[in-house]
Amino acid sequence: MLSAPVRRIVAAVTLPAILALSSCTAGPGHAAHARQVAAGPPSPSAPPPTPSTSPSPTAKPAPGTLEWYVSQVPTFPEAPPPQPVQLPATGPAPIWHRLPTEQKVAFITIDDGGLARPPAVADFIWQAHIPVTMFLNSPAAEEHDVYFRQIEVAGGVVENHTIRHTSLAGRSYDHQKQEICGAADKLEALFGKRPTLFRPPFGEHDTTTLQAAHDCGAKAVFHWTETVHEGKVRYQTPEKVVHPGDVLLMHFRPALMDDLLAALKAIHRAGLTPALLEDYVR
Ligand SMILES: [Zn+2]
Repeated sequence: MLSAPVRRIVAAVTLPAILALSSCTAGPGHAAHARQVAAGPPSPSAPPPTPSTSPSPTAKPAPGTLEWYVSQVPTFPEAPPPQPVQLPATGPAPIWHRLPTEQKVAFITIDDGGLARPPAVADFIWQAHIPVTMFLNSPAAEEHDVYFRQIEVAGGVVENHTIRHTSLAGRSYDHQKQEICGAADKLEALFGKRPTLFRPPFGEHDTTTLQAAHDCGAKAVFHWTETVHEGKVRYQTPEKVVHPGDVLLMHFRPALMDDLLAALKAIHRAGLTPALLEDYVR
């Protein structure tokens, strides 16, 4: 049994190891990649995986540690093979509050990036196999690119949330296109993949937004169905349950570890499994 300090060290070397691995196995399908890799040791030279998903009953991890968060993640039913949704052949990008699917999945999205970046998030996402989509503002992505790249290597996908995070509704096409395409260009340069999903700041949009998003490469624009803040899920419907296809919104804020855990528990209570939006919008 490893002592707590040693366990922390093991967790700390996990991401450099997977970063090294990803550089030689980069390819499509982040979630599948992460899950495949997670089935075995990160690399031949890396230490064995920390047995944090099945803690010994005699040595429970202390609340608030990475090991504790991982130990609290419920066991989900296996995710169904994704059936990608139908996209319009032409015209503006569709906007969805929830993904139009009956499959028993829900989606975790994390927005912004400039305010706070809890350091354990990448390891949590990696060790608990949490599929996440990050809607980032491009200046925050540029300033903290190493942080977001670590989450990307752990299985997360970077998507577009404009440059300046101002409301787009009512603004000219040229203004909206500059905000959306400008961020897409920067994120593509930083992460090597052009965003295919867009979320307007505050969810505020008009028909011009959907046209500009399409013209900048977005296949779909996403609102959300639940928000998560300081470890609490806020529902927009009275029955307080996550439905198939729901999109949960949280932010890069100080309580992101609690928000991720609360989202996972709510998805599990609903009998659903977390899945990756990009596996359904192709
Ligand atoms: Zn935002």
